[in-house]
Amino acid sequence: MITVSRLNLSAFPDSPYAVELQRGSPNLRFSPKLEAEYVRTHLRHSRTLIRVVCVLGALLAVLRGAEQGVVSSWNSVLLIDFGPVISSSIVLASIAWSTSYERLYLQWARIIVPVRNSIVAVHVAAAAARGESEMLMLLPMVLMGPFFFHGLRFATAFVSGVATVACFIICASCFDLALPVALRCDAFLLMGLIACTIAGRHLEQWSRTAFLESHLVEELAQHDALTGTKNRRVFDEYLVRLWQQALEDRRALAILLIDVDHFKAYNDRYGHQAGDQALRRVAQSAQRLVRRPLDVLTRYGGEEFAVILYDVDGNQAKDIAERIRRAVAELAIEHRGSRTARGVTISVGVAVVEPTLERNPRGALQLADQALYEAKVRGRNRVELMDEAEHKMLVTGVFAKV
Ligand code: GH3
Ligand code: MG
Ligand code: MG
Repeated sequence: MITVSRLNLSAFPDSPYAVELQRGSPNLRFSPKLEAEYVRTHLRHSRTLIRVVCVLGALLAVLRGAEQGVVSSWNSVLLIDFGPVISSSIVLASIAWSTSYERLYLQWARIIVPVRNSIVAVHVAAAAARGESEMLMLLPMVLMGPFFFHGLRFATAFVSGVATVACFIICASCFDLALPVALRCDAFLLMGLIACTIAGRHLEQWSRTAFLESHLVEELAQHDALTGTKNRRVFDEYLVRLWQQALEDRRALAILLIDVDHFKAYNDRYGHQAGDQALRRVAQSAQRLVRRPLDVLTRYGGEEFAVILYDVDGNQAKDIAERIRRAVAELAIEHRGSRTARGVTISVGVAVVEPTLERNPRGALQLADQALYEAKVRGRNRVELMDEAEHKMLVTGVFAKV
């Protein structure tokens, strides 16, 4: 199992998760793109809790309003008193249960929760001053909710907590709440606010770290440790997925199999570590040319790499393969053991196939393998293309030469 705390995070400068983990996000805020991803993930994970809490909040508000309505019969004062709390709670619960939850909830909750809770604090102070001391039991809930149950960011929860406490303290003195009771409540609330602030901040820090670590582990599981490119597992999964998409979109796929020429001789002459370094440089120069969103470069195994290109024809695929071949040759990595050139070179086999229901990705891969074999026997340091025009398709999905 990968333990993130033992990793040298500076070894992954391309991973936004590793970069943020290194920064430690002291302000509880990531870069904008990652922040949006974190918020989305957090909202998704907390969905059930948020929904339940919103419904309970709305229910409580409605019950309290109804109780007051029965006791003092409905009038406009009561409506002004309870209307905002009841309606805002119902709005929040409706958003939490709507299909736009991920898009709208936080935008509304960050306004509704602090305002509503401050109004509730005023109500509680007024009720306690009238002798309804049991209403004071609501205060811990109102204080803790934004920090732990409403899915709010720490900063918003803190603002809400401060506003709630301030409203209660001011109103308790205005409404003539008995001084000893008011002082005890104020002290209790302030201590509660301090505890919630410490725990809430800690919780968000923990949740952010857990988010970064789980995504980094996922990312590492997809990458080849030596070259930093995606690994074979990604290739296998991605090929099947892209094949399906190309089938639906009626587009062609290209598979490029890249093999470093005479690499055994390179290792024998320059040593395994130099061989590793050469592989890294080959991967980097290929990666610079495989940049379109749906295209992918992976380490297929040993000194072989595989590229999948989406929606290209034979000429385009061959052109990219040729540019990769040239880029590697231009690295001019000395290779005196090569019988092909003075430097490290690659051979590339290219297969371009339009997926159909009778074909399968294994057949396309076999075609690319065959093209690579041709490139090797025709002298290496070259690109060979196999497209389906010169092949017939067998029922097994295997392409064989006509
Ligand atoms: P050809 O031109 O026919 O491809 O010859 P070749 O020597 O490249 O092919 P062969 O399959 O005989 O040898 C592949 C070599 O690649 C053998 C292996 O030591 C080396 N190799 C595979 N993976 C690694 C690696 O991770 N690091 C290093 N340094 N060498 C590797
Ligand atoms: Mg090989
Ligand atoms: Mg080789």
